[in-house]
Parts: sequence; structure tokens; C-alpha cells
Amino acid sequence: MASVLIVEGSIGEILESITVAKLVGGEPVVLAYGSAAKSGDLGSIGARVYKLDAIHPDPIFNAVKKLYEEIKPIVVVGHGSKNNRDVLSRLAGLYDLPMGTDITKVVEASDSYVVYERGFLSERAVAQEKVPLPAVLLVNAKVFEPASPAGASEVVELPVEEGQVKLVGRLEKQLSGINLEEAEIIVGVGRGFKKKEDLKLAFELAELLGAQVGATRPIAADYKWLPEDAWIGISGKRVAPKLYIAVGISGAPQHMAGVNNAKIIVAVNKDKSAPIFKFADYGVVADLYQFLPVLIKKLKERKGQ
Ligand SMILES: Cc1cc2nc3c(=O)[nH]c(=O)nc-3n(C[C@H](O)[C@H](O)[C@H](O)COP(=O)(O)OP(=O)(O)OC[C@H]3O[C@@H](n4cnc5c(N)ncnc54)[C@H](O)[C@@H]3O)c2cc1C
Repeated sequence: MASVLIVEGSIGEILESITVAKLVGGEPVVLAYGSAAKSGDLGSIGARVYKLDAIHPDPIFNAVKKLYEEIKPIVVVGHGSKNNRDVLSRLAGLYDLPMGTDITKVVEASDSYVVYERGFLSERAVAQEKVPLPAVLLVNAKVFEPASPAGASEVVELPVEEGQVKLVGRLEKQLSGINLEEAEIIVGVGRGFKKKEDLKLAFELAELLGAQVGATRPIAADYKWLPEDAWIGISGKRVAPKLYIAVGISGAPQHMAGVNNAKIIVAVNKDKSAPIFKFADYGVVADLYQFLPVLIKKLKERKGQ
């Protein structure tokens, strides 16, 4: 059976990519790097696994290139993380492979081609493309059901072959405690909030709902009222919560590209013609400063607080 090479930095991504490998009809062979390479779960995912203790694109690319030449996969799959975009576009360039990005569905596959769907125009439109194999496919997070771990796997450690860029040290990133990719409920805040202190309304709501707080680019990047980890959108995080509550957010396409995998969107905006209402499942036309305190009070009453 033909092989599908999976290149990922986390266990969750690997399991989603195994689903893609099965849809394409190939035997998954996994290259796990970064935190995935350190995970104890690697031994039970039920695929041949190569682990590489590296986080820099150069050694990851060197390993991918070697494995590509060795196993000659019909498809190379990875999520669209920064490392994968870097490494797998180099691979596609080197071997002249077609490369699909932002893939949300595998429509059809044979020995010689694959048909997939991908979002474009900030994911407001869907394109169906057919490409010959071998090909590189970058898939979106949380759209493919993760495969169930299928028992014992053979795990082989690969040597780290540095490239021209050498890692001279590591500075720990300040942890913000925000993990929007895993959040089931997100309260998104935008420029409808007039000052940083007012965000406490959003945090209070989030605490009552067991939610995390995310933000539009101006809030995180321009005003710096929240850490960059909270930034949602085309140039920030792409999230897929069950519920996204957008408060004081206009609904710019660059922001909505980050939340279009949310199951339900609720928008609170005082302008009834705000574009967010076109995307929202439920809309509340209200001043957030009047609406949020009432909502918070009602939720507290329900919880007996
Ligand atoms: C290349 C590029 C990349 C970008 N990437 C991103 C990205 O990744 N993420 C992102 O978010 N943006 C991104 N942007 C910016 C994007 O275009 C928008 O400018 C931004 O999303 C708008 O943020 P906002 O909704 O908070 O602010 P605004 O557009 O100013 O909207 C504020 C909203 O709040 C409402 N409002 C005001 N007061 C109240 C109140 N009291 N109660 C209720 N509602 C109120 C207003 O009616 C308005 O609709 C990008 C732009 C470019 C050019």
C-alpha cells in the first residue's frame, strides 16, 4: 500500500492527519517533531513513527526530505502551522509537487490524483481542486475528526541534522495561559470596548461560561490590551469553538477568517448594520455596556451566585 507522510508538531494534529491519510487511501508514516516528539502517546497511535527533537525548520526540512526520498509517499500531509508552511513549501518547491493549503475536505482520491476543498478569499469562498499525485496537502485544524489511537507503534528516533541556521539558545516565551485553539467557548472582544479596564466585563462573562477571551487585531496588536495569543483572525489564531460570542466586533473578513469554523456565533453590537450580523447565528443589537452587565447578572442568578 502507498504511504502518506504526516509531518506534525502535536499529537492532536497527528491524529487528525491520520484521518486524512485514510481518506487519501495510504498507510500513515509519521514524522513527529517539537512537543509531539516528546509525547509518551507516540507509541500508541498505531502508525510507523519517526521522532525528531527539533523545533527549527532547517532540521525538520532535512528529516522530511530524507523520509520523502526513502518512502516515496503519494501524499505529504501537515497542518498549516508556521513550521509546516515553511518546511513543506520547501519540499514542494524542491520536487515540483503541487501543494494545496487551507484544506477542509478530501472529496475524492485515486492512485494518481486527489480532489479536495479549500477556503479562499479569507475563507469566504470554497474552491474544489484536483491535483496529480504526489502532492503536499496543508489541512486546517479541527475540521477532520481525529483518528482513534490504534495501538502499539514502532517509534524510531531520527538524528537532528542542523542546516545553515544554528540554534544558539532559547528564550522562554511568556506564557499567557490563553489556549484558544482548545477552547470550547470564546468571548471575542473588539474596539467596541472603550478602555482596557472595561475588558473585565468580558472576563467576568468568560468565567461564568467557562470560556476564554480572544480579541480582534486592534485590541491585541495595536492597543496591546491583551497578549498576542488572544489575537484571532487571518494573521492571528484560527479557532473552532462550539460557541463564539463576538462583543463590540465589526466582523471584518480578516477577523472572521479566524472564526469561520465556530459552530455557533453570537454577536453583540450596537450598530444593526454591522457586518458581523451576516455571520452570526444569533444577534443582539445593543450597547455592550448595557447588555453585558444584565447578561452577567442573569447568569449569576442561574448559578445561584
Ligand atoms: C493584512 C491585514 C490583516 C489583518 N488581520 C487581522 C486579524 O488577523 N484579525 C483581526 O481581528 N483583524 C485583522 N485585520 C484588521 C481588520 O481589517 C479590522 O480592522 C479589525 O478586525 C477590526 O477590529 P474590531 O472589530 O475590533 O474594530 P472595528 O472594526 O472598529 O469595530 C468595532 C465594532 O464595535 C461596535 N461598537 C462600538 N461601540 C459599541 C458598544 N458600546 N457596544 C456594542 N458595540 C459597539 C461598532 O459598531 C463596530 O462594529 C487585518 C487587516 C489587514 C489589512
